[in-house]
Amino acid sequence: MSPITPPTFATLRKALLALAVAAPASLAAGAVLAPAVAALAEVPGQQRTQAPGFYRMAIGDFEITALFDGFIDRDRKYFVGVKSEDIIGLLDRMFLAERPEIQAAVNAYLVHTGTNLVLVDAGAAKSPGPTLGFIADNIRAAGYSPEQIDTVLVTHLHPDHANGLLRLDGSILFPNAEVRVAKAEFDFWLGGGAVAKAPAPLKPFFAMARAAVAPYEAAGKLKPYQPGDGLLPGVESVAAYGHTPGHSGYLFRSKEQSILLWGDTVHSHALQFAHPEVVIEFDVDKDETIASRRRLLAEAAALKLWVGGAHLPFPGIGHVRTEGDGYAWVPVEFGPIRSDR
Ligand SMILES: [Zn+2]
Repeated sequence: MSPITPPTFATLRKALLALAVAAPASLAAGAVLAPAVAALAEVPGQQRTQAPGFYRMAIGDFEITALFDGFIDRDRKYFVGVKSEDIIGLLDRMFLAERPEIQAAVNAYLVHTGTNLVLVDAGAAKSPGPTLGFIADNIRAAGYSPEQIDTVLVTHLHPDHANGLLRLDGSILFPNAEVRVAKAEFDFWLGGGAVAKAPAPLKPFFAMARAAVAPYEAAGKLKPYQPGDGLLPGVESVAAYGHTPGHSGYLFRSKEQSILLWGDTVHSHALQFAHPEVVIEFDVDKDETIASRRRLLAEAAALKLWVGGAHLPFPGIGHVRTEGDGYAWVPVEFGPIRSDR
């Protein structure tokens, strides 16, 4: 028996043309077919733009909107903790080893709790380059405006999470929002003690952190919090220290459902689920980073938590499951907002 071969595009096109010629012009079908053939003959230019950068889901009565700020290409040499050939092997397994850089999304999350409109992280603005800084555009694309946001919870004060608090001219982007950040984070970046001891390449981060929050502080809208402080109804901070001293996630709970927006707990889905001991060079305390990651991965897997990550592939939402000695990432499926489950 000869194998069945699927028709090629050329044979399909030939069949369609034959059908168009054979169809009597008086038939309504002819009028439908003729433009189809013309469209094939005149192919429009490619659009080369992406869909708007937001994705939405429900957690109980809360509406979660993931926002895409853009992407950063990170050199894979920043990731250390296992042998470099193992890093390349892990990337190759995910079809990511062809280039020396690893593309990392920069995500933020907008949560409508029914009583508050809360932004978790603010993206990078344009300071690291033109591939970032789309948070405000995507807030609008998602049907809201920066002025409507009443609270910004910052996971940490790195530029890709805090620079987007400001417009390009340095003015406040979220004029009606209080900015909340862990006290330990505030003290580290703004307290003055750490910058003197920091290695030279990290020193600019201190100036950027200070600049990002200064207008909010001047307006009396920067409110550091202590662990355990109540933040908002249904919202609590979760310690994830190490990447930076006050690095924190935020747990949103509604009607038996919850999502942990965990900031930079994982920088690379290809590397750090399977090997939580892989660190990125600018983790401030690498041992504490690994301990926090292991704890949160274990909790997320055991509790079957929804998780949202700032550098996981957009929308950065999914689940964690155990796999071998490590973990694996199970991304959310695109779909409608369902209220029946
Ligand atoms: Zn980050």
